[in-house]
Parts: sequence; structure tokens; C-alpha cells
Amino acid sequence: MKRIFVGAAFGALLLASPAFAQSLVLNGVTIIDTQTGKLTRNQSVAIDNGKVTQIARAGTIKPGAGAKVIDARGQYLVPGYLDMHVHSLNEPDPTASLELMLANGITGVRQMSGSPEMLQKRRDGQLKLPADGPEILAVPGTVLTGANAGTPEAAIAEVDRQKQMGADFIKVIDVKPDPFFAALGEAKKLGLVFDGHLQSTSAIEKAADEGMSAIEHLGPRESVLLGCSSDEDALRKAIAAKPPQAPPSAPGPAERRLRATTNPTMATDPVNFDLMKRVVATYSDDKCRALMKRIKKDGMWMTPTLIRLRTMEFGDDPAYRHSPNLRYVPAKTQQLWQEMADEFPQIVTPDRRAMLKKFWALQLRLTKLLEDAGVPMMTGTDSGGVGHWEISGVALHQEIDLLHQAGLKPLTILQMTTLNGAKFLHRDDRMGSVAVGKDADLVLLDANPAASAANLHRINAVVRSGNYYDKDALERLKQDAAKLAAG
Ligand SMILES: [Zn+2]
Repeated sequence: MKRIFVGAAFGALLLASPAFAQSLVLNGVTIIDTQTGKLTRNQSVAIDNGKVTQIARAGTIKPGAGAKVIDARGQYLVPGYLDMHVHSLNEPDPTASLELMLANGITGVRQMSGSPEMLQKRRDGQLKLPADGPEILAVPGTVLTGANAGTPEAAIAEVDRQKQMGADFIKVIDVKPDPFFAALGEAKKLGLVFDGHLQSTSAIEKAADEGMSAIEHLGPRESVLLGCSSDEDALRKAIAAKPPQAPPSAPGPAERRLRATTNPTMATDPVNFDLMKRVVATYSDDKCRALMKRIKKDGMWMTPTLIRLRTMEFGDDPAYRHSPNLRYVPAKTQQLWQEMADEFPQIVTPDRRAMLKKFWALQLRLTKLLEDAGVPMMTGTDSGGVGHWEISGVALHQEIDLLHQAGLKPLTILQMTTLNGAKFLHRDDRMGSVAVGKDADLVLLDANPAASAANLHRINAVVRSGNYYDKDALERLKQDAAKLAAG
């Protein structure tokens, strides 16, 4: 994909050529090696034309005339954060979301749902993106579902069409096994990443062995954890005989609304509670470890999006209902979310709630086992869409905390948030580490994130395409987003 440059000096227009505001020197900073976590103290970093041009011991770089010089002593420098699962471009106007992301250290995002129109606009340079926002790193075509990939033939034709339209990858959601594997085979043939949701009717082992690139949301639901069940064979036979499907009667308004806003294939689909319950009851840690080894060997990636899972499974958590960050959410959406939280107990009865609590614990366990097995993972949130309680930018920091809660090492979380997305996209030649020649998309932190992942919250400044945003500038972006939300 051709890089899209956005100049900070201009309004909400996509520019064909870069407009870099300044030459920049960061003096006295500690650089973190995202591969090893190693610290190199007391460095100066020179930035020109949106690239890191020089790194040397502090005091040895002579700033050019007009360069902005920042005293960065005591600060830690890491690459800009990547949110590898967003839907921002599906918003009628993504300005506020994208500004909030930058204000929260995010300099690159992967859009997870596209369309022919979106791909066309991108080709024509007509995506309306704010100047102060992250780079759009990748865009897929229309998500594969039963509607466009109902049969193997239709699935293959759709993958071919999307390749022609310039999709960066194939996103799959809800596709039956035969078309699913046909589409996967076609994507592989065309050299396209095949990423998305795994249905419980398709075995995780087979998807990994056949080269599915990545799975989102740890499944979703039970589709990955089924592979950790000591009763997997029996459960799969039962699913094959009677795939989970909606009850014959029309769902009531509360359930309908919850489904519409949480995606019916996700965690609070009432149809699947029973299946999830059986998966919880038959979970085997040993079997799960063996499965993780296998998917590591197959080269599969994962984007857990724990924040997406938790906001669905704990949809009426007071912490979400009373979050001060709701000021970034339009009143109408806030009202919908609060109503959904009111209705949550109607669907998630006490026994279901107890089951979901166990299920959530297993999802955290699964995330830890993925780390133990060395399966590469990416930080993603699912923000920018219709997800309950998902606030752009804010969600990435919640995700970081949940990854910590799962027991992941600080270095793993740092890598998931900076380096791994670059690797997954095969762009680590220009992203993912602080090095000469790489993009000047950076975050300056007040504390060392290799010591504690919570330090990823302690943003002092952000550099985007060489443009420096200090704390005041970041605060202004947040105020701007809040104002846009308030209408
Ligand atoms: Zn998504």
C-alpha cells in the first residue's frame, strides 16, 4: 500500500505530498529496544522530513537552524502505538475518533471492515482523514459472510474481486466451513492475509494448518477454546449435527438491541451460552498448551481484543457506566449504551453471568498460554464501530491493562503495541522500532514501559510524521474530540 501522508499544518484534507512542520531534536532521551527491552540512555534523536535521521549520544547532534529542540531527559522513547483492530473508517465522520487515538499515542491503525467504496476512495486519495490522526495502515474489502461467501465458488470469486479492488487483506466473519476454507485457499494463492473470526463449525487446528493468518477476538466465543476442551470430539460432532443457530421465535427488543450492537457472533449471543458452558466445564490446560504449540508452529497470529470481550461479557459494569471518558461519546450513543446496560441482566441471567465470569477467566488464561507458546499477538480494540463501551484511543489503554491482567510480560505488551503490528504488515523496515531511517512516529513516556506496562499510559508527548505534540497539544486534541462528541 502506498503511504498516505497527512500534514499537521492543514485541515481535514488528505494531502498528496508530505507537509512536515519541523526538524526536531529530542535531547537526552532513553531509547527502548522493542526487540529486547534494552535501554540506551542519554541519547539525542534527530528527525527530519518525518523520518529519524540521526541517533547519537546526547549533546553530539548539532540542531540545524530552525529546528525544534526538546529537552527529553528522564523520558523514554518508543515507537508510536498501533491499534490493529479498529472500524473508525465506518463512522460517518471519524475525525473525533482518530484525533482521540493520536492523543492517546496511537500513530497507526488497521481498519477491519472495508467496502468497494472505501477502497475506491483510498485509491483516489479521498478518504477524509484529520491532519492530527494515525496512519491508516491497512484496509480490507467487504467482510466475508454468508451473504457474499455462501458457497465455495462465491467465496473464491469474492476473494478474487477484493484482490482486484486493492484490498490489503481478507477479513472473514461468519462463513460456513466449505466456503471458509475455499476462501482461505484462494487468499493464500493470491498472497493475501486471511484474518478474522473462526466459527465453531471450523476446527482451529485445521484453520491453523491450512494457513489462516490471524484470528481476532480469541475466536470469537468458544471457537478457539473448543480446541482446549477434553470433550472436543463430542462437542464438534454435536455442533456438526446441529450448528448453533438462533431460536425460532423472534428475539425480544432487549436481545435484538444487544445483538445488533454487539455482533451476533460474539460473546453475548444467547444461543451459544450452552455451548460456552460445556467448553468451560471441559477445559484442559494441557490440551490448550498443545494447541498453542501447534498454532505457533503453523505461524498463526492472534489479536485478542480483550477489551471487546470484556465489555460484552460485563456489559453493565459500573466502571463502564460511569467512565469519565464517556465525554468523548455522543449523547445518543451514550444513551443507547446505558439502556443496553439496563437490559443486560434480562439476557445475562445470574447463571449465565457466573458462566461468563469463568469464560472470561479462560480467555485471560488462553492469552497467557499464547504468550508462553510464543504465538505472536497484536494489540487491538475493535473501537470505532458499534461495540458497547468502546471509546477510540481510550480502549487501547484498557486493552493494555487487560493484557497485564492476563499476566503478560511488560515487554510482550510493548511489542504487541508497537513492533508486532509492523512485523505482521511486513513493514518493520520503516516501523516498529526507534532507529535511523524509520518513521518518526513516536511516543515519549515519563516512565519505563519495559519495567511496567502501566507506564505505556504515561504519555509525555507524541511525534507523528515528525510533528511534535506536547502534553498541551494532546490535551487540545482530547478537548476537540469531546467538543465534536457534544455536537
Ligand atoms: Zn472488529
